[in-house]
Amino acid sequence: MKTRRLLAFLLIATALFSSSCCSNEEKEASKKAKNVIVLIGDGMGPAQVYSLILTSQEETAFERFPYSGFSITKSASNEITDSAAGGTAIAVGKKTKNNMVGMTPDSIPVPSMLEMFAERGKKTGVVVTCSVTHATPADFIAHNIARGNNEEIALEIANKPILNVLFGGGKKYFTERKDGLDLISKMWDNGWNIYDSLSQIEDNSARTMVLTCRKHMVKAPERGNFLPEATAKAIEMLDNENGFFLMVEGSQIDFACHDNDSITLVEEMKDFNNTLNVVLDFAEKDGNTLVVVTADHETGGLTFVDPQGKYTRTDFKWSTGSHSAIFVPVFSFGPGAEKFSGIMDNTEIISKIMEIAQ
Ligand code: MG
Ligand code: ZN
Repeated sequence: MKTRRLLAFLLIATALFSSSCCSNEEKEASKKAKNVIVLIGDGMGPAQVYSLILTSQEETAFERFPYSGFSITKSASNEITDSAAGGTAIAVGKKTKNNMVGMTPDSIPVPSMLEMFAERGKKTGVVVTCSVTHATPADFIAHNIARGNNEEIALEIANKPILNVLFGGGKKYFTERKDGLDLISKMWDNGWNIYDSLSQIEDNSARTMVLTCRKHMVKAPERGNFLPEATAKAIEMLDNENGFFLMVEGSQIDFACHDNDSITLVEEMKDFNNTLNVVLDFAEKDGNTLVVVTADHETGGLTFVDPQGKYTRTDFKWSTGSHSAIFVPVFSFGPGAEKFSGIMDNTEIISKIMEIAQ
């Protein structure tokens, strides 16, 4: 009798405990992400994503994301943002004026999510196909009143030990400088390994910068598989027990759209899509990685229409050589990904990420 009573008590206690703790859904929702990977398609509005879906025979990486939403991109100064202010809103969570990098409109530097993760002891990386000093990467790793101050931004990168991996272009801002400094040799002296191709990397644990060209890389497909390969290498180098933060930019989607070049846009989107597949394959296996894909703004005012209005053709139609005001998509995968559904302001992305991340 005593044993039976004890057994009943234990059964009730177990049932009470498990119901007051968490359902599987609650467990999943409260799970923290060890790693965070943010991918930015510069200039990638809804139509740029659709240009890939329209021209692709296979399922795209975008269709692998379980959650999606929209981000409103206006800056502190303009309804239509530039990349500097659009990226600043994502990287530091503050609206700023067009042209400004990582600071408020009154020039106060604000720490970026990359800097906060470095502070928490996570490894950090940035992978781009433009100069590493260009607006989008600079928003995550530097603070400057003007995006055009490439040499100042390079100096800030050289002086701050916040990055473990930096892959892209822009060597001239480190070596052909008005102040005559050779930042590459200075960085070697400070423990960095610096190369001009990914294949030269020997030590995965060293701080490593790969600058493949003087300024921006060539467009897709001429530059080969740099972006997916550099992203895979960065993940391999950054993955560790404390976690990592990685920002990857499809930098030249914007360039193709400024040129209203439909063929190059699709090539740039394929390259970004291959990169997303690399990231999602890792995140699926890892189970502790939050992946967020978004854009700083749309470029080109792109849509798809039949010029005769008869629904029989679907032509690319560009309405500007500049940026537009339309909101941009957000795609998310991994622990906490459901927080990115619905319409959000671009400044809200960082707070959602910091809430989800360990
Ligand atoms: Mg950019
Ligand atoms: Zn642009």
